[in-house]
Amino acid sequence: MSQPVSIVWFRQDLRVIDNPALFAAVEHGTIVPVYIFDSEIAEEEQPGGASNWWLHHSLESLNKRLNGHLQCFSGDPQTILCDLVSKFSANAVFWNRCYEPTVIERDKKIKQALRDSGCLVSSFNGSLLWEPMSIRKQDGGVYRVFTPYYRKGCLQASAPRYPSPAPTRITYADVSREGHTIQDAGLLPDIDWDSAFYDHWKPGEEGAADKLSDFIRHAARGYQEERNIPSVRGTSRLSPHLHFGEISPNQAWYALLNAFDDQGNSDLDCFLSELGWREFSYYLLFHFPTITEQNFNYQFDKFKWLNRQDDFIAWSKGQTGIPIVDAGMRELWQTGYMHNRVRMIVGSFLVKNLLIDWRKGERWFWDCLVDADRASNAASWQWVAGSGADAAPYFRIFNPVLQGEKFDKQGAYVKTYCPELKHIPDKYLHKPWEAPKEVLNKAGITLGKDYPKPIADLKQTRQRALDAYADTKEN
Ligand SMILES: Cc1cc2nc3c(=O)[nH]c(=O)nc-3n(C[C@H](O)[C@H](O)[C@H](O)COP(=O)(O)OP(=O)(O)OC[C@H]3O[C@@H](n4cnc5c(N)ncnc54)[C@H](O)[C@@H]3O)c2cc1C
Repeated sequence: MSQPVSIVWFRQDLRVIDNPALFAAVEHGTIVPVYIFDSEIAEEEQPGGASNWWLHHSLESLNKRLNGHLQCFSGDPQTILCDLVSKFSANAVFWNRCYEPTVIERDKKIKQALRDSGCLVSSFNGSLLWEPMSIRKQDGGVYRVFTPYYRKGCLQASAPRYPSPAPTRITYADVSREGHTIQDAGLLPDIDWDSAFYDHWKPGEEGAADKLSDFIRHAARGYQEERNIPSVRGTSRLSPHLHFGEISPNQAWYALLNAFDDQGNSDLDCFLSELGWREFSYYLLFHFPTITEQNFNYQFDKFKWLNRQDDFIAWSKGQTGIPIVDAGMRELWQTGYMHNRVRMIVGSFLVKNLLIDWRKGERWFWDCLVDADRASNAASWQWVAGSGADAAPYFRIFNPVLQGEKFDKQGAYVKTYCPELKHIPDKYLHKPWEAPKEVLNKAGITLGKDYPKPIADLKQTRQRALDAYADTKEN
């Protein structure tokens, strides 16, 4: 007798190891793995350019892992899945859950439609350590502050699922090829933007495993300190792999726990709590679905943004004349990534010194980051802006010069992305506008010609930001 056929709908879980939906489908019988480009999703939720680049390569990698059996479709997922169930005579559909509010709504409807047609539908947690609905305060309320959420909520709940290996054998249903190829989706950029991405990233499960083992070997010990230095490889660079589900957070969590035999080690705790911040972002998005568009703290609705377009353009192009800000924005453009410390610096500069609405920064990051993630991006931007849950207080304004001098002492990071400044002595590297003319001449720099003059006076704009905030509170 032939085995029952099931469809595995891959989404943000582009992996074979520790994939609960795939595992369940393989137990059920033979499988048809599919990926659907959702044409119905709202424009603002469509992946940005860098994410599309990643998705293209990640799907190719997954297809290889599945021996070329991945079938890709484009359109309305409900219509496509219902059609495929009947075309392939499948009696079950399996997927791992996503947590964006619109996706939850969509999936509920799809589940119902498939069940109504007599199909078995099962969904699983494949991308979080603790699902948002499982963590509540003792009084049943929702956490709004990270530390109690993580320490009391998560760490005292059941331990995260231990990761499972890849299924020992996957049997593919003998069905016709439908849909189109990954290339047909046209995900790669038309312009020559992505050439350096290839030097930094290897999308797919193998790339994710390499990043994790590199991190454990070279950087996990010392993480707490080194994670703040943008010129060194002090962090894991797992974020895009986690976003696309090429590795589960459970794999990272337990790999780190197993690598440190001294539990309670501060580097280990610090790394695990960063994974906790990722969980917290999803938790916030789940319980407060408007955080992607609206201020979490509605007091900020009255904030008077300046939103000057020329300032925004200078910021996005890395031409503000503030070296650490420009280095960060150029790193983002060239590599699809920016170091976390620098994300905070450029974010604070945009929102506070330039008085540009955090949503504009969020959109730019959404388009340029390979790890662009609805939950982490929105929650982090609101954190920087001071409008978020458990956010940095608005009056704490990063001084980009002091930040540069502290975290990029020798200027290795700035010199990588702003090579025109490489002959400026350390003393002036983070504030070239203060260098005497002869120093600039010797370094081959004319401000305003070889490198921009600063677009903002840091002291004045700091005060302006504080005044704008005070106005908001008073009105
Ligand atoms: C303005 C701003 C925007 C951001 N946008 C995103 C985004 O779109 N996608 C994204 O994944 N991260 C975002 N972050 C968070 C953070 O900068 C990145 O997760 C981190 O830099 C990724 O590098 P890594 O993998 O080497 O991190 P590591 O230091 O190695 O941390 C391990 C993992 O923990 C998670 N993590 C670490 N820090 C945070 C954090 N603050 N919030 C949520 N998760 C965290 C990530 O999944 C990361 O891969 C943003 C931060 C800021 C300040």
